[in-house]
Amino acid sequence: MNYRHEFHAGNFADVLKHALLVRVLLYLRRKDKPFRYIDTHAGAGLFDLDGPEAQRSGEARGGILRLRDANISPEAAELLAPYLEAAGAGPLYPGSPKIAQAFLRPQDRGLCCELLPEAANHLRGALARDKRIKVIARDGFEGLNAFVPPPERRGLVLIDPPFERRDDYERVHDSLESALRKWPGGMFMVWQPVKEPEVADAFCAAVGGLAEALRIDLQVATSGKGLTRTGVIVVNPPYVLEQEAATLLPELTRVLAQDERAAFWLERLGAAKVSSQ
Ligand code: SAM
Repeated sequence: MNYRHEFHAGNFADVLKHALLVRVLLYLRRKDKPFRYIDTHAGAGLFDLDGPEAQRSGEARGGILRLRDANISPEAAELLAPYLEAAGAGPLYPGSPKIAQAFLRPQDRGLCCELLPEAANHLRGALARDKRIKVIARDGFEGLNAFVPPPERRGLVLIDPPFERRDDYERVHDSLESALRKWPGGMFMVWQPVKEPEVADAFCAAVGGLAEALRIDLQVATSGKGLTRTGVIVVNPPYVLEQEAATLLPELTRVLAQDERAAFWLERLGAAKVSSQ
């Protein structure tokens, strides 16, 4: 495996994924009942935007660093504020488990799988050995199968693989299918790079065949070096998410645009309806 998130931390794809992650976690906090956060591909937890990898790629400059300084509409600013607060103002950008940690209450629990032992160790340090969150150095697809449904019966699973393997789409689809069989009411958030729109469309259609979901895509340019379009699929989305995404997407697209072809997509898959978790 060659993937190193240090090069991509805080880029436009992280911004979309993490801003939406925070909106779903805030929805789960609306009820006192405990929830569980499961992160199948958790990463190292904290990334130095001044470090050599981030500096070499420069990707955060088109993502979080641009967003921090941007003028945004008051409606979108209100929705982004909890994410921007969790992301902080310094050079250390938090990964998904560290962001989720900021929204877990004493009664909530987190479970993170990360295949690379060094990254898992780094993550344990980043989470300051928080007793509420378990970090396991193991395959996240196997972990997902082992850990759903969680005892709380409410919560969110983030599935965020590197998509370096040809069969990653298949593995995400199959593990989502079996997880939904065991936990039909669970919320799942799947991140995807959109390199070939036809492949992403076929994947979304397949996910829509499993459950109701929202597809949220952000394109910052049509050509350029590296990734220019990304997507998040939220299975069993909170009923507020569609409206929140409709408020956020035009602003994120405007602020993060790299050319005049920047665009967004917001689409219901499998006739998404209100979640009752
Ligand atoms: N979710 C993180 C975030 O938002 O900050 C970023 C995760 S990064 C895109 C993907 C991570 O998955 C890498 O840290 C990589 O080491 C890890 N990984 C790759 N294959 C894995 C597998 N089969 N199971 C668990 N982790 C894996």
